Amino acid sequence: MVVVMTPEATDADVAHVVERVESVGGEAFVSTGVVRTIIGLVGDIDSFHHLNLRSLPGVGDVHRISDPYKLVSRQHHPDRSTVWVGETTKVPVGPDSFTFIAGPCAVESPAQTLEAAEMAKAAGATLLRGGAYKPRTSPYAFQGLGVKGLEILAGVRETTGLPVVTEVVDARDVQVVAEHADMLQIGTRNMANFGLLQAVGESGKPVLLKRGMTATIEEWLMAAEYIAQRGNLDIVLCERGIRTFEQATRNTLDISAVPVVQATSHLPIIVDPSHAAGRKDLVVPLSRAAVAVGADGVIVDVHPDPETALCDGPQALLGAELRSLAQAMRQLPPVVGRVDASTLVRTEAAATA
Ligand code: PEP
Ligand code: MN
Repeated sequence: MVVVMTPEATDADVAHVVERVESVGGEAFVSTGVVRTIIGLVGDIDSFHHLNLRSLPGVGDVHRISDPYKLVSRQHHPDRSTVWVGETTKVPVGPDSFTFIAGPCAVESPAQTLEAAEMAKAAGATLLRGGAYKPRTSPYAFQGLGVKGLEILAGVRETTGLPVVTEVVDARDVQVVAEHADMLQIGTRNMANFGLLQAVGESGKPVLLKRGMTATIEEWLMAAEYIAQRGNLDIVLCERGIRTFEQATRNTLDISAVPVVQATSHLPIIVDPSHAAGRKDLVVPLSRAAVAVGADGVIVDVHPDPETALCDGPQALLGAELRSLAQAMRQLPPVVGRVDASTLVRTEAAATA
């Protein structure tokens, strides 16, 4: 931390800052310039926060040098992490692979979910997405099938072998969702729902944490820190577009968030081109961008009949479109030094052999 004194600060003001810092066990290094004095602090940053240094006489500004998040930062954990998802089948999401997740926006029926899952599997996806609890903008829109939807997802996992990623919107549902799913998704609208973040942090399941649509990268990583602080470091971040003045797309995919996050956090990061664009014609080009920029995977909406979808039909891909996306998924990862995650999937039998 660095304290910058105002040009008017007196020697007594500087001495007072030093005394306060030393009173909590810190060290203060004073550098006297021609116009102003700068004081470098070394010690426990949390104890410095309690000093309210900015309010002391003669203090102009206070800058932190270390990241405000700790557990998810690369400062203390330089190697990038891999999160494994699933129980009998374990799928990696991390720096050595490229993970393709696909499925319907919402679970609507057993037949629709199974058909979408089979489309996903046939295209090479290794994890199935699908919402049983839908956080809709309108209270009159389809809210999801709830527990019935979770049971459908668990049944489809049984049939297809694909581990399941599904959203939880309320802390009271975390336990039941964790009993049925392999990974808990926190959607954009709940990124700053701190009670929910703590509850998924205690669930023992991997978490897919989407970026809040108006959140900065630092706020997003602080949200991840809430989960990590409850003992769960199995967190995958998901860039899904942010709200800007542009109206051609539903959200603006912040592709630069991928390398920015990777430079500062060890957590894996994937991209959701479907919810970013809201238009299916952009899903293939944005997925290519995700691979090229070095993302650890993509999550994509598919539906057997987008015209009748109860949620997000315009962005859902059909079988042929998914195949063309899958082709890009297969060709591009080796170019950026990655392998398709399907080649690294571990099954229980293989793991115990
Ligand atoms: C979803 O993935 O189904 C979803 C609602 O996404 P987001 O939270 O990114 O809008
Ligand atoms: Mn959706």
